[in-house]
Amino acid sequence: MGKKQHLDWASRSIMSSGSERVSLLNKEPRRRANENGSDDGPITDLEHGDSIQAAPVGFGRIFLLAKPDAGKLIVGTIALLIASTTNILIIKYGGMIIDIVSRDIKSPDQQAEALDAIKNTVVVILLIVVVGSLWTVLRVWLFSSASERVVARLRKDLFSHLIQQEIAFFDVTRTGELLSRLSEDTQIIKSAATTNLSEALRDVTTAAIGMGFMFSSSWKLTLLVLAIVPVASVAVRKFGRCVRDLSHKTQAAAAVASSIAEECFGAIRTVRSFAKEDYAISIYSEKVDETLKLGLQQAKVVGLFSGGLYAAITLSVVTVVIYGAYLSIMGSMTLGSLTSFILYSFTVGSSVSSLLGLYTTAMKVAGASRRVFQLLDRESTLPRPGDKCPTGNPDGDVELDDVCFAYPSRPSRMILKGITLKLSPGSKVALVGPSGGGKTTIANLIQRFYDPLSGKITLNGVPLVEISHKYLHNKISIVSQEPVLFNCSVEENIAYGFDGKPSEADIENVAKMANAHDFIEALPKKNQTVVGERGLRLSGGQKQRIAIARALLMNPRVLLLDEATSALDAESEFLVQDAMDSLMSGRTVLVIAHRLSTVKSADLVAVISDGQIAERGKHEELLAKNGIYTALVKRQLQGPRAEF
Ligand code: ADP
Ligand code: MG
Repeated sequence: MGKKQHLDWASRSIMSSGSERVSLLNKEPRRRANENGSDDGPITDLEHGDSIQAAPVGFGRIFLLAKPDAGKLIVGTIALLIASTTNILIIKYGGMIIDIVSRDIKSPDQQAEALDAIKNTVVVILLIVVVGSLWTVLRVWLFSSASERVVARLRKDLFSHLIQQEIAFFDVTRTGELLSRLSEDTQIIKSAATTNLSEALRDVTTAAIGMGFMFSSSWKLTLLVLAIVPVASVAVRKFGRCVRDLSHKTQAAAAVASSIAEECFGAIRTVRSFAKEDYAISIYSEKVDETLKLGLQQAKVVGLFSGGLYAAITLSVVTVVIYGAYLSIMGSMTLGSLTSFILYSFTVGSSVSSLLGLYTTAMKVAGASRRVFQLLDRESTLPRPGDKCPTGNPDGDVELDDVCFAYPSRPSRMILKGITLKLSPGSKVALVGPSGGGKTTIANLIQRFYDPLSGKITLNGVPLVEISHKYLHNKISIVSQEPVLFNCSVEENIAYGFDGKPSEADIENVAKMANAHDFIEALPKKNQTVVGERGLRLSGGQKQRIAIARALLMNPRVLLLDEATSALDAESEFLVQDAMDSLMSGRTVLVIAHRLSTVKSADLVAVISDGQIAERGKHEELLAKNGIYTALVKRQLQGPRAEF
């Protein structure tokens, strides 16, 4: 049902905005051109989710999360039944004490007898208290530990599901939103499947047992108490729906706020250098205020409801007391049973109101879990990779055959328009051309970040789709303009793509080949030094050389170099270039080049312009053509460094 609503909403939104949008939730990208052919960006799954009315969530699914802990929960439930029975029994024995006290006691014998009876009753009550407490300890422990396990499992499931989504999903999804689902929404769900369930069961059983005792004490009074049920249930339903919708919206707004915070902290240097702190504060505050507004609405609704409920329950108890007093005066009820009855009705009343509190929580959970399940149900639009491991002889043959491609987030704009290119094993092919022409996109497709819309790409003659994911990425490595390091040690960064643990000698060896050894030795803890988030404690050239060492250790057959030296100063460029030369030898290399020297030595140069190969050939052949390539060379030669 959720999915159907999704699609309905998607089509409504497409019609109302009149723009071309793509739904990543559907397996097939949805395309619809508008009149003027423009596109104003994609709708993310999350936007879908936030814009549709919260649909009812099957609580069964939430409880299923707790299935592996079923044994504990069953024992917990038994503990709970025993503990709630003891609660009611205490009241029963309390009533008995009052009955004993209100006997007509005159003689010392009668007094001694009464005291004895009270003593016995108190002993029984104490025993019940001990039993009840022990079972309560067991109940709370079992249910709480199960709820911790549920949230841990849910987070792991969600994370491993998300990390396997296709790159296009991440192109359009804000990281902060995903983080908010992973941490906040799962936290809200945490207790739903276990603790809340246990408390709800406790309240239901206490209320049911209490009602049984009430009926047996006085059915007339019980019926009187039950008179409020129909009115209350209508109010409860309305209230529940309202809370669920509000909670869904609140969570969505909170997610937007966290994604803004995440973005600002991630780009703190840019924020600082443009002195945009106040602006960042104001947009974050704006989003938090939206969350606040919804939260306040929720507070008002919950407050009103709780107040109303309190009034209703108290009034019904007062009615019971008045009518009960009448019955007692008329002699049709003993004082003890009236007292017990009143206590039962208080117990039942408090169980019912705590049940309603739990209902409020359950509705909040419904809002949050909807968002989590929506992500868990999402299937990657990229077909699953096959399991072929094609070894070519010689190895490392890559071919692009009439490849056309548009990014899923902008399906109307063709980026590659029929690229045919062969990278023979061991050869070096250079891509040059104006920025935005589609060079990086070609590298993306060779790594199968996306699949081409038409045409095919093969490695050793086998289409990339059919090749095992691990195998493909073992064969192909990339060093890009901005190498990304992880916040761990230099050594771990170098070994990142390596299966298993490489030997120290291997690490040192590749570090030397990558011209990284000397600076690593100068770091405070050598190759155990932690490099900071995204490697920010290293210079650009140092990061790049670590990335090259990483690629060397992988020993790939196919190497993609995407303007790997373009962001560097002359000194580091020399070191990096030297490192790259050792990296390139003996491999199939696709180099997206910005330096004339790299291009000159290539076996084939392809000029990519506007998604097509405008010219191809060796450097000298292309110069002789006097076309785009010659113009590019001439323009670049005028600069201080011969670059494309
Ligand atoms: P080049 O590397 O030749 O400079 P790219 O291959 O990076 O060019 O980009 C080609 C075009 O694709 C550009 O117009 C760019 O805006 C677009 N593009 C690149 N990455 C994405 C993406 N993830 N989603 C949508 N469009 C993209
Ligand atoms: Mg590029």
